[in-house]
Amino acid sequence: MAIEEFLGVPVDVIQYEDIISQVEHFIEANRQMRITSVNPQVVVEVTQYPEILQYIKQSTFRIPDGIGIVKASQMRHGQIKERLTGIELMYQLLANANELHESIFLYGARPEVVKRAAENIQKDYPNLTIAGVIDGYTDLSEEEVVKAINYSKATFLFVALGFPKQEAWLARNAGELNANIIEDVGGSLDVISGEVKRAPKIFQQLNLEWLYRSISRPGRLGRLFQIPVFLWKVKREKVN
Ligand code: UDP
Repeated sequence: MAIEEFLGVPVDVIQYEDIISQVEHFIEANRQMRITSVNPQVVVEVTQYPEILQYIKQSTFRIPDGIGIVKASQMRHGQIKERLTGIELMYQLLANANELHESIFLYGARPEVVKRAAENIQKDYPNLTIAGVIDGYTDLSEEEVVKAINYSKATFLFVALGFPKQEAWLARNAGELNANIIEDVGGSLDVISGEVKRAPKIFQQLNLEWLYRSISRPGRLGRLFQIPVFLWKVKREKVN
């Protein structure tokens, strides 16, 4: 599997199927699959978090989650042609868990959000078991959260604390977790719960979902500037 590096951050040249096809093997062999999303924000900000960079480097799969990554790859005549989104991968993993009659754990988001997300997931994927949920603002200690997840015996774990909290939490705790399939999923539970709508189809089709999210949610406008900054840095990296 080919890997491309942007400012020292590796991203895999990969399709959803490359990941999904491995899930059952990992479960059978009781191995741990770590899937993490890399987007321009992550690449630009990760220099501040060496432990997260380490986590990304040691992950099983690093998905190109952002059109900025696709553009950067194009600029270098690389092979990343398509963006994979964390939420689409989560849906595919849920479908897989459903098929395999496996159990999942959700950790993150506001209490009512994670609860509603779990209800919606159970409705849509009736053959999987929801082994447990913990919201992302819990008073439990980190150790207690890890214990609860392990106690639940969940096979799939989705961590939804947003960047950089979720990656930092996983960098510290993934080694202690018994779940086989671990994905950090950012704000996906907000979408699954119905709290936040995905961008209208037209934005999705034009690859402008990021633009819709930036303009529809206050406080996120600043992130828009990270894409040109990222592309400029990648371009300079090539020249040097
Ligand atoms: N979140 C959380 N605990 C925290 C901070 C954030 O559970 O301490 C959740 C938040 O409720 C949301 C998700 O993390 O569901 C993603 O947050 P945000 O939109 O900031 O991140 P992004 O989607 O950009 O990764």
